Amino acid sequence: METPRITSSEETEEDHKEINLRPKELDHFIGQEPIKNNLKIFITAAKQRNETIEHILLYGPPGLGKTTLANICALEMGVNIKITSGPAIERPGDLAAILTNLEEGDILFIDEIHRLNRSVEEVLYPAMEDFELDIVIGKGPAARSIRIDVSKFTLIGATTRLGLLSAPLRDRFGILERLEFYPPKDLAIIIQRAADILGVKIDQSVTALEIGKRSRGTPRIANRLLKRIRDWAQIESAGLISQKTIEIALNAMGVDTLGLDNLDKRYLETIINKFGGGPVGLDTISASISEETDSIEDVIEPYLLQLGFINRTPRGRICTPLAYQHMGLKFPEKNIQEKQSTLFD
Ligand code: ADP
Repeated sequence: METPRITSSEETEEDHKEINLRPKELDHFIGQEPIKNNLKIFITAAKQRNETIEHILLYGPPGLGKTTLANICALEMGVNIKITSGPAIERPGDLAAILTNLEEGDILFIDEIHRLNRSVEEVLYPAMEDFELDIVIGKGPAARSIRIDVSKFTLIGATTRLGLLSAPLRDRFGILERLEFYPPKDLAIIIQRAADILGVKIDQSVTALEIGKRSRGTPRIANRLLKRIRDWAQIESAGLISQKTIEIALNAMGVDTLGLDNLDKRYLETIINKFGGGPVGLDTISASISEETDSIEDVIEPYLLQLGFINRTPRGRICTPLAYQHMGLKFPEKNIQEKQSTLFD
């Protein structure tokens, strides 16, 4: 099996192993204050009225805490949660089986909800709106549709791509919340908390911040880097994580001072060296670096956009002067004029 990238924000099997680092209460969930405050209000109000919470759509890059928040909502509401994902629900019957097994107030979490197929989506609409299911029984001329009630539930959908969600599905969510990349100081708190749970010593809070800066704004990556650095610390410095261990470990993993790894660098180098800094289309980049367009859009680009290293223009991707600077290259004069002209595209 191919070894997953250490800085991939997508979940790997290793993330599941060992002690669970997922916070279980809203107060232990670090950062994302606006979302946390909203959820606190919705949960408290729903509990006071003895009602379920409205359907919630959480969106943002992988590894930022969507699944964690859904679990926290269930715990805070004192209800069960059923976790599934868009691609796992293949047929309308699969969804019907899930919905009819839910109890009053339960939460249904559908990850990657943008990947639900249309026929399943159509069963979901009346279930979300009226808590009813239309089921077709029989085939051909004898087929007939019956309507059955399902318990009042809350759907929490998660997606990395709001744009791929169909408008009717999006409109059926009462609450839409966008998760943002975490600033290094929040990641430092997450890392310190994880270190305490794992029983790892970090020599000062500055050092946690140093790991935070290299975690691509993503708690999942922060936890993963911490586990790797812990291995190095165990061998090199009697278990204590110091500035030096961090540098040795991250250099060995090919992760630079901003958390970029070899794949990010290959992406930037391809645009810069092969396509004169862009604009270049996504498909062309995908073919050049042999990575799927989905993973480029979901995993590589959001963080580079956040850093201001690339721009998406109608004519394709462009590397900015900041990207050249980080790669130790000079931004070509001719691109300055082109850059100005793209502003008017
Ligand atoms: P997503 O569903 O958005 O891909 P997850 O909810 O699975 O992300 O989060 C990945 C991991 O990151 C979790 O297991 C948890 O340990 C950690 N994590 C995410 N958000 C936070 C947070 N705000 N505070 C602490 N840990 C977090």
